[in-house]
Amino acid sequence: MTDLNILKKQYQGFVEKIKAYNFVFYIIEWDSQTEAPDDCFEERAKQMKVLAEEQYKIMASKELIAIVDELYSRQNELDDILKHEIIEFKKANDRVIKIPMEEYSELNSLLAVTENIWAKAKDNNDFASFAPYLKRIVELLKKQVKYLETDELKGYDVLLDQYEPGMTIKKYDEFFDLLKTELIPFVKKVTSTKLEFDDSFSKLIYPKNLQKEFTNYLENVMNFDHNKGLSKESAHPFTSGFGTHDVRYTNHFYEDNFISSIFSAIHELGHATYESQVDPLLEDTLSGGGASMAMHESQSRFYENIIGRSYEFWKPNFPVLKKIFKKQLKNVSLDDFIKLINRSENSLIRTEADELTYPIHIMIRYEIEKDLFNDKIQVEDLPKIWNKMIKDNLGIDCPNDTMGVLQDVHWAGGSFGYFPTYALGSAYASQIYYSLIKDVNVQKALKNKSTKEINEWLKEHIHKYGSSKYPQEILKLATNEEFNPHYYIKYLKEKYSKIYNL
Ligand SMILES: [Zn+2]
Repeated sequence: MTDLNILKKQYQGFVEKIKAYNFVFYIIEWDSQTEAPDDCFEERAKQMKVLAEEQYKIMASKELIAIVDELYSRQNELDDILKHEIIEFKKANDRVIKIPMEEYSELNSLLAVTENIWAKAKDNNDFASFAPYLKRIVELLKKQVKYLETDELKGYDVLLDQYEPGMTIKKYDEFFDLLKTELIPFVKKVTSTKLEFDDSFSKLIYPKNLQKEFTNYLENVMNFDHNKGLSKESAHPFTSGFGTHDVRYTNHFYEDNFISSIFSAIHELGHATYESQVDPLLEDTLSGGGASMAMHESQSRFYENIIGRSYEFWKPNFPVLKKIFKKQLKNVSLDDFIKLINRSENSLIRTEADELTYPIHIMIRYEIEKDLFNDKIQVEDLPKIWNKMIKDNLGIDCPNDTMGVLQDVHWAGGSFGYFPTYALGSAYASQIYYSLIKDVNVQKALKNKSTKEINEWLKEHIHKYGSSKYPQEILKLATNEEFNPHYYIKYLKEKYSKIYNL
């Protein structure tokens, strides 16, 4: 048996190498998304391939696997952080080892072209041209699932667990069943009520430079530290971070839709706050960053929707917005602005859906994925099934597949099991909110045009753990309860009953 300290030191040596490669990918990816010239990508792909192979060699090296295996077998001698890291590391490596190389490469090469094929099919409203590729992706994923099944995880559960450890069909079914019985009737009531106010100000032009002035202001409100972060523009806003000292986000500005950049900024700054408030002691480990997809999304949506669309947030900040957009917002009241940013309508496109109807879009995708992986439905039938579910649940007709089953890129990228984390994140956020208000008076906390007190609470109860614990463990520590989706229903009903006077 190797001395435990030597073993840990050897493992740490590998971690340093893996992190160095991660850092290179982080910088290249950021550059690709923000600044890289259009014609550079072909050449770049060659360099990326070499780097990815080098990193793979480290991850799959016999020496590292032996070290991890021994640490895994002696996990009870390790501290909690390293123990968790080793368990997760082994799980991820098993994924690579258990799937035969040819099948692993076939899926990867397929996925390298399918996003393009999907994009064309979407542009041309031509599902049939994409269907054979999607069918093959599903077949290959089903085979991979077979290799990865365990006593606890079978079928679609394997995929769900990859995106949100601990979540299964059973748990998601409970969650979405509750949405079906509790939320859908309420949504019908809300969306059939007209919110009376003059929304003409939302159709004016809001110059980009002024929008930027306001989002810079929002960075200060949310305490974004420019010595440890920066922001740029990109087609689709996103956040990425490397440790707590380098956190970056992007935004996009539409002059004819001024609220878009505001809520993208608050959303991405929510992700950024999470990344930057992880305990610095985790910096040299693989346990930094967010705990899971849903937990990360819970933080961005918490700031965007629960805080960012609240009356309490805008009471002190709306005067600043009005001062910047003197002409456009001259006669606009805070009440009308609040109505605009919380208006709920049934719509076809997930990414444009409001906070209330959003989870219904996710539920539809979850049901379809589940049936697909349980062999209940076939890829060819997806447009028909999609349209029926949109009609049944949102009451609208889908005019074409471009705005229907072809709207999202996820399936073309092989990401099955990903969608439900979006709704789960919102549900986590609501549960966290009801816990936070026991300690923090939100109205008072926001009065000084700063989210500082809220940031501090989230740091102490969620962010500091990074990914050193499972998301549901952190949720329980933060809220003293297991995941409870009733908070989500409660939050949405309370909020929208008030706005819609129901
Ligand atoms: Zn997000």
